[in-house]
Amino acid sequence: MAKHAEQQSGGQSHLTLFIVGAIVLAVVVAIAGPAALGEGFRPVVAIFNVGGEVFLRMLQMVVVPLVMASVMSGILGLGDIRKLGRPGAYAVSYYLSTTILAVITGLIVVNIVNPGRGIDKKLVEDARQEGEETVAHAAGRKSGKKFEWHNVTGDRAQIASESKNVSISDNGSWNVRIVIDQVGDASTPAHAQLRWSRDGNVFTDVENGEFVAGTEESIYRTTAAIPVPEEAAYVQIRFEPQQGGTASIIEAYLVPGPPSIGEIFQNLVLMLFTGNLLASMVEINLLPLIVFSIVFGGMLTTMGEKSKTISELVVSINDALMSFILLLMKLAPLGIFCLVAARFAKAQMDGQFLSLLKTQAWYMTSVLTGLGVHALCTLPLLLWIFTKRNPIQFFGQMSQAILTAFSTASSTATLPVTMECAEKRAGISPRSTEFVLPLGATINMDGTALYEAAAAIFIAQAYAIVDPTFVLTFDKQVVIAVTATLAAIGAAGIPEAGLVTMLIVLNAVGLPLELIGLILPIDWLLDRFRTAVNAFGDSVGAAIVDKSFSAAS
Ligand code: ASP
Repeated sequence: MAKHAEQQSGGQSHLTLFIVGAIVLAVVVAIAGPAALGEGFRPVVAIFNVGGEVFLRMLQMVVVPLVMASVMSGILGLGDIRKLGRPGAYAVSYYLSTTILAVITGLIVVNIVNPGRGIDKKLVEDARQEGEETVAHAAGRKSGKKFEWHNVTGDRAQIASESKNVSISDNGSWNVRIVIDQVGDASTPAHAQLRWSRDGNVFTDVENGEFVAGTEESIYRTTAAIPVPEEAAYVQIRFEPQQGGTASIIEAYLVPGPPSIGEIFQNLVLMLFTGNLLASMVEINLLPLIVFSIVFGGMLTTMGEKSKTISELVVSINDALMSFILLLMKLAPLGIFCLVAARFAKAQMDGQFLSLLKTQAWYMTSVLTGLGVHALCTLPLLLWIFTKRNPIQFFGQMSQAILTAFSTASSTATLPVTMECAEKRAGISPRSTEFVLPLGATINMDGTALYEAAAAIFIAQAYAIVDPTFVLTFDKQVVIAVTATLAAIGAAGIPEAGLVTMLIVLNAVGLPLELIGLILPIDWLLDRFRTAVNAFGDSVGAAIVDKSFSAAS
């Protein structure tokens, strides 16, 4: 096996070089094209877009049948589902430990680099506006409601205090966030009080539901979320404008309360099962498909001769799909060139690439340093300790998968390539790749976890600048670490999925969700790096678990 793998990797190193060349060329074209042709470059970008999309779709096309055939064929290869127990436990322990290590690395780096320090208040304000739309789109189980407040401008002498009500139709936990913008220095601050009612007539003050804005001009001050009492059917805000100064402007939002850790766990368990197998296939929702395939494959092993035909068919389908991927990889340099050139050129033409590298430099440095430490120190060390493999050689063997992950920003779309590299180039036995990699691509996301932790702290640091009453305590960092781990496990292996699950992390520590706008413009780029780390983490896991199979047999 090892010799075969070496021959393969020798034959394929050219392909890796071509892919690296394609990425470099794509970035150069993306920067030079708009500079030379201006808007005239857009039609070229459109062509790249189609080319990239074709490659991406061809990868995605094989994911569902490949995952199902490979997991089943892995179980058939073991001959007995019980043999999965020990390697399965190894895999899950590996996933969890490396995810936690990644989160800790992210927290350490972001606390040292402190990218939120000295951030421009104006940038935070702009980000908040940009983030509002994303939050509205992503709002999970119930969407937030905004109090319809006309901007209240002027001072107390001209405008009397005013109240607004909002009704709550949905059960569950709700929070209210109040935002007051103070324009000009006031002598007496603007003031808001949250109140609640069962019937909409008699309102009572919510305990600790008071918010007093500052008297100095500040761009953006907000309460952390104020929990609404469970019995409330209506909430009301009474607002008193400031005295003196130019204006105070209030906005208030009724937003879903943070899910409890228990609720997050419930969702993770439910994600394993589907009531409709076909729907999960259509949505490329791999987790329930893996569970089904393990159970179905397990049944086949108990049926003896009766299942011989179907078992052979499953193994043949799996082999055929693996050959298909080999063929697909021949197109990889072209497909990857198109994917990278199209995305980078779009960013460059929207003014989001080189310019963002400057304004977001410290934040990017934190995330990239954290990812670098995890991918180049932690994972290689674990690989060496548990398998005695040479990490540099292993990195080379997995390079096509890592580059594909960078180019597609999707672990799921990269999965076929990861499986191909792990089996054919790194010589990891199919019995572990067939089972560990599909599961890893869905739940083991070290890069995403690290990024979620680092980004949440960055947002907290930036927010503390506009609202000095917000203190990032050690407890809050622990909550961020726990929720970032869970959010990464729950994130789908698709582009920018981490951005959506990030809202869980921000919500858990009472940070304004719309500040996600701070990391939004650069997310498409960081996503590529974290996806590459996700794919590498999965392959290291497969190599380590492979050892446990050898030990078991
Ligand atoms: N794009 C990542 C992946 O597919 C998920 C994320 O962090 O957004 O692995």
